[in-house]
Amino acid sequence: MPKAGPHRVQPATPAPGGDTDRRLAALEEVHRALQRRLEEAEETLLAIRSGRVDAFVIDDPATGEPRVYSLEGADRPYRTFVEHMQQGAAVLSTTGTVLFGNARVSEMLQCPLDQVRGKPLATWVSEEEHSALREMLEKAHQGAVSGELRLARSDGTTVPVEVIVSPLPLDGGSTLCAILTDLTVQRQHEALLHAQHALRASEERFRAVFEQSSVGLAEIDLGSRRYVRVNAAFSAITGYTNAELAACAPEDLLHPADRAEVGHHWYPVRGGTIELRNARVRVLRKDGSEIPVDLSVGLLKQSNGSPPVALQSIVDLTQQEKAEAMLREADRRKDEFLATLAHELRNPLAPISSAVEILRRKAPPIPELQWSRDVIERQIKQMTRLVDELLDLSRVTRGQITLRREPVSLADVIRDAVETSAPLIQERGHHLDVVLPEQDAILHGDGTRLAQVFSNLLNNAAKYTDPGGRIELRATLRENAAVVLVRDNGIGIPATVLPRIFDMFTQVDRTLERSQSGLGIGLALARRLTELHRGRIEARSAGQGEGSEFVVNLPLADASEREGPDLRPHGTMEVVSRRILVIDDSRDSADTLAMMLALAGHSVRTAYDGANALQVGCAFNPEIVLLDLGMPKVDGHETCRRMRQQPWGAQSVIIALTGWGQPEDRRRTQDSGFDHHLVKPVDPYELTALLANPAQRSATETSVT
Ligand code: ADP
Repeated sequence: MPKAGPHRVQPATPAPGGDTDRRLAALEEVHRALQRRLEEAEETLLAIRSGRVDAFVIDDPATGEPRVYSLEGADRPYRTFVEHMQQGAAVLSTTGTVLFGNARVSEMLQCPLDQVRGKPLATWVSEEEHSALREMLEKAHQGAVSGELRLARSDGTTVPVEVIVSPLPLDGGSTLCAILTDLTVQRQHEALLHAQHALRASEERFRAVFEQSSVGLAEIDLGSRRYVRVNAAFSAITGYTNAELAACAPEDLLHPADRAEVGHHWYPVRGGTIELRNARVRVLRKDGSEIPVDLSVGLLKQSNGSPPVALQSIVDLTQQEKAEAMLREADRRKDEFLATLAHELRNPLAPISSAVEILRRKAPPIPELQWSRDVIERQIKQMTRLVDELLDLSRVTRGQITLRREPVSLADVIRDAVETSAPLIQERGHHLDVVLPEQDAILHGDGTRLAQVFSNLLNNAAKYTDPGGRIELRATLRENAAVVLVRDNGIGIPATVLPRIFDMFTQVDRTLERSQSGLGIGLALARRLTELHRGRIEARSAGQGEGSEFVVNLPLADASEREGPDLRPHGTMEVVSRRILVIDDSRDSADTLAMMLALAGHSVRTAYDGANALQVGCAFNPEIVLLDLGMPKVDGHETCRRMRQQPWGAQSVIIALTGWGQPEDRRRTQDSGFDHHLVKPVDPYELTALLANPAQRSATETSVT
């Protein structure tokens, strides 16, 4: 604040004595002196009022020395007040230069006051806010304006401030007064409020999700091991109210069989973790019923420092299990249907084949007749193959296939497969290369089934390669396994189909021409048969038109397996003429089988139902009875039981002929009094062997599953 400097005041002097004139003159002198002093006093008062006086200098009449009387004490409270303000206060020029600042300004800017003075306030305002500051300064001439700015300090930090700029008329000139309020704490407070608000909103959301979830949710206090909070779905699934659950430990709700398995998972183990995910368990409801649930438990750490709780979730699987059971049932019915279908389709094929065989032997050599017979024969073969595959597959999927395991030579298996597939390979004009290991390997398995695996692969190679292609079968030996590769240069398999190529009914192209009239089960069967032999099969192809490769990996027989019995019939068999009664409600089947047996030199009679069979048997006294099981009115089982009561029947060897060959089917025929059980279509070699030696059990009857 500019000051006018000390003001000098003259002290009053005493009037001189004497005559009247002199007195008058003296009085005039006194009057003038008083007049001067009055003027001086008025001037001093004016100076004091206008604030242009810091101090008075008075000549002390006692000492004659001047004395200085300071006026500082008068504005000290204002100065102190300004210096101790919480806000920064600054006097600015109209262009924003700092003329004066209090200590708080220096503190806010982190800059000593002498370096602040004389510099524009904009020095400490970030560049993007310069125009805002300029605008405030311009408007401040008309009245106070306020706004928010960020002060940028020399250490790189910024401070949010509220700035109020107002006009400040000093010494008649126009200056501005700026009051700066630090908003840091206020901002922090606002941020805190905002965070609290967000937290509350998030808690409310969580609570809504918790309450409305269709998944049963529960919080468990790990100290008391009791439920502290459950949602409505949890109560609905368990049948208990919230209050009842508060008195329960989580394991109380588990079925006793599951308690030992998962009960301990609710409580933290080593390292304080709880980790139970998607366990399928049963929950005991309040009404005593039990329901399947998917159970998960996890640790919920609390942010407010409270001890952690366990969070349990349960999903009611009742509907899902019902749907799964229905699917399984539908799948089972489908398998059963396929099995029945294949079985029923196969029945008529046997007599047709037998009839064709008879035609071959007995029909006159007329070319048209021979041609017709060949057509029938070819079509029968194709149908038999399809039906056999279907039947095999349904047996395999139902785990009902019977393997005749024995030591078999890898070379023999491959030779059989090549023999089976050779006609198709030749028909399509392919070139086949077969490379076998120098030393033969012995596998432990069912030779026929193993050959079926490779003939399926060779047939496919022949089918899915354009005529004149190349097919290669290469067998090598690894440490304990035989590895057989079947490769072709045919149409290849797209990468998208490759992963499911072994699934049942998968066909890349379902058009009849491309699918080669197959059913899409050859590879599924090959895989199951390989797996039943503890092997692996995989398919590779670089894509369409790039050929395909199938690799079969089969374990070699170990020492104990190499010694298994060789059940294959060896050598030629002596044909003994027998008296045979054939009984089947399918006349074709009975007649063709009878004719074949007659051609083989046996004496044969037929009957088409059980009652008739008993009459024929009584008159014919057969040594051997071939009896179909599935007959109307009196079935095969009942017919057998009645035959056994006859003197002739008690002596006969009664053989069941049936499409069903599972252990329980065999047990049933045994219980009904049958001596043997043959599965249709009967292997002629096996039948011949049995007829030659009826007391011995046949090869299939001694088979191992
Ligand atoms: P099917 O041959 O009766 O259709 P498979 O189960 O044997 O049934 O084969 C399934 C499908 O895999 C075939 O329809 C065919 O699309 C494809 N496939 C199998 N083998 C080959 C191969 N060697 N080359 C190309 N495609 C093949």
